[in-house]
Amino acid sequence: MQRHAETASPGVVQPDPADVARWLAGRQWPVHPLAPGRKTPAANCELCRTRSHAPAQCPCHVQGLWCHGFHSATTDPGLIHSWWTKEPHAGVGVSCGPAHLIVLDVDSHAAHVPDRKRLLPGISIPDAVNLDGLASGFDTLALLAAYRQQPNPAEDNTTLRVRTPSGGLHIWYLNPEPHIRYRSSTGSSPRTALAWQVDVRAHGGYIVAPATRTPAGVYTPVGSVREPALLPVWLAVELTRTGHVIQLAPSPQPRPRPSAGPRRQGSGAQALLQPLIETVRECAAQAEGTSFTEKLNRAAYTAGGLVGAGYLNQTEARQKLAEAAHYARPHQTHRSETIIEAALSAGASRPFHPKGLA
Ligand SMILES: [Zn+2]
Ligand SMILES: [Zn+2]
Repeated sequence: MQRHAETASPGVVQPDPADVARWLAGRQWPVHPLAPGRKTPAANCELCRTRSHAPAQCPCHVQGLWCHGFHSATTDPGLIHSWWTKEPHAGVGVSCGPAHLIVLDVDSHAAHVPDRKRLLPGISIPDAVNLDGLASGFDTLALLAAYRQQPNPAEDNTTLRVRTPSGGLHIWYLNPEPHIRYRSSTGSSPRTALAWQVDVRAHGGYIVAPATRTPAGVYTPVGSVREPALLPVWLAVELTRTGHVIQLAPSPQPRPRPSAGPRRQGSGAQALLQPLIETVRECAAQAEGTSFTEKLNRAAYTAGGLVGAGYLNQTEARQKLAEAAHYARPHQTHRSETIIEAALSAGASRPFHPKGLA
């Protein structure tokens, strides 16, 4: 983004939406037009407004129309040129899923604060914790980070953050493991949510691009960072815990294995690791005296060996370990992650080839 997007005051030249769209598409992030002056997608064509059909079945996309919001998103320069020539004031939406983006959308709307059970789904906040003054997604996100002893993402100055006209904040991250797909959610959802007033924009969602203007103001990047950082491991663990991972159906036919390709990663190695991970989870039954550290160490070291030998995916292994560790010892997340990292890398330097897995 151009620097001048930062100081949005009347009379300051904003970047042209078409330029913003091209800049984003150049990063292979598919874009679609928003209704001019709004944060919602540009309207469908007449046919799509009146006839109900699944976006995937829409005949308009092959004709180069922008129907169905993010379902039409594209990186095609010709299409982008034609869309923003037709509607030069259209803001820009980015389809998060195919862009491998995960954006935390923090709201600061004045709203009725729900029961403390609903603030951080899956986490019971003890009555002793004083929640006076808690009013927005900024507060619940800070609470989650504090609970996990991690830095507050709203203050993460290593990644692209965008201030919204309503005082909210978009915190942009890149998914380091795109084969793990995360679903979008709203913070008030009773089913899947990360924190009250914090929406997750990922698969099945879009995010308003920086520099987009509405009558309320401009979506303005904070500070000087203009690129998303990789999603922190602890947030990946939290998204997994709160049900954001989309379970992909197993492909009906196994793909032919390339002769010189990587080893088939999967069930054999998982079966070896799983009992060790269970010993970590079982430590939850008692607060101490369970040799938690040794068990975590052993599981992570074994996982590292299997990763080093190509039987396991490192990110998935790390996530499983971190999840089990959180479950058993929720108050020492940071310490557990340090143990996991050290043991994973020690294990990876000594690849482990168990019999029967070759
Ligand atoms: Zn249409
Ligand atoms: Zn349609």
